[in-house]
Amino acid sequence: MTISISRVVQSLEPSATLAMSAKAKELKAQGKTVYDLSVGEPDFVTPQHICDAGTAAMKSGYTKYTLASGIPELKKAIVEKYQTDYKLEYAPTQVVVSNGAKHSLHNIFFTTLNPGDEVIIPAPYWVSYAELVKLSGAVPVIIPTEEPQNFKMTATQLEQTITPQTKMLLLCNPSNPTGSVYNKDELTAIAEIVLEKNLFVLADEIYDKLVYGNQPFISFPTLFSGLPERTVVVNGVSKTYAMTGWRVGWTLSPEKLAKKMGELQSQETSNPCSISQYAALAALTGSQDCVVRMRTAFAERRDYVAKRIAGITGLSCPEMSGAFYVFFNIKHYLGQKLGGVPINNSEQFCLELLTQKQVATVMGSAFGCEGYVRASFAAGLDILEAAFDRITEFVNCRT
Ligand code: PMP
Ligand code: GLU
Repeated sequence: MTISISRVVQSLEPSATLAMSAKAKELKAQGKTVYDLSVGEPDFVTPQHICDAGTAAMKSGYTKYTLASGIPELKKAIVEKYQTDYKLEYAPTQVVVSNGAKHSLHNIFFTTLNPGDEVIIPAPYWVSYAELVKLSGAVPVIIPTEEPQNFKMTATQLEQTITPQTKMLLLCNPSNPTGSVYNKDELTAIAEIVLEKNLFVLADEIYDKLVYGNQPFISFPTLFSGLPERTVVVNGVSKTYAMTGWRVGWTLSPEKLAKKMGELQSQETSNPCSISQYAALAALTGSQDCVVRMRTAFAERRDYVAKRIAGITGLSCPEMSGAFYVFFNIKHYLGQKLGGVPINNSEQFCLELLTQKQVATVMGSAFGCEGYVRASFAAGLDILEAAFDRITEFVNCRT
């Protein structure tokens, strides 16, 4: 008898960001020079004091199982961070530490959703949201947003999409893939609908520390007093501290939900890596100078990338106020031949850009938005310069 694959996994789309990154790595392994702007991960190494804390944890014998939902010291540090940064009062019992924020998302969906429940997701959305919702048996309901509105969902759009089956709104702010950041008025209008319609909100705020210019970041549950009871905040160390490989993320939620997510985790994965948890503790409690340094570098790269996009005929992008992505419009080139190959959609654009010019990006279609391409600017200025020179050559090669 051959082993058959479950229906649910058969229908699962693999992560396009990781797939493009794997393709880039494959080309690199063949000895090719690849300008990799595909996966969203800081190019910086994890700051030394954080690595040292990981080493110290190993030397001290913190190499055993921990509480499935995370070590108490880290939960306390997370609670204190939200107190200091956002004046939000949580108890350590409301925190669940997981194997990265992606795992936190899985915990939330599996703990709260039943088959047929609807989850509203504004598009463009990060690649894993819709697939994780579907895995839990629920239904992603997509609200398309437009470039002239900086890809932000309006309260009216939200209100018009709510049905009796709507259970949750998923809000990624700052946004992956567009870099947009909601201002206070926009968020307040959304929060009013959330309260009026009794919705539950998943606030993915993993890019909260990567905001540029004068635009302040506002954490969703700070807007009204009733919001923390109906919001789960997702965050982690991957982006802020250049710790993607350490795999530490967390949720802040009502205690009842945290308890159930902890129980789910106790059956599925047990604790996140003990050593990584101690490193994350050092990240949160140590000097934040490293965050300022990395954010300053990202801001410089953002300005550079915006200038380059503006200089390429036919390309455009909204203002990038946060995160480290540019989501640029390629519609001008659809239906044309680039390097002799017909380009009819964003996937063909990205694959040809990689094949012809060795620049790895991710197709907008993977983010629920055809006609666009995402490039990460979490790469050195030299790489960005070479990559955008090649993108320019690629779109200029119309034959
Ligand atoms: N949410 C968003 C919006 C992301 O971009 C990412 C990037 N991977 C995650 C969650 C998951 O992060 P982690 O590496 O902590 O799993
Ligand atoms: N969040 C990153 C990205 O969007 C990491 C890749 C992933 O986890 O899918 O590229």
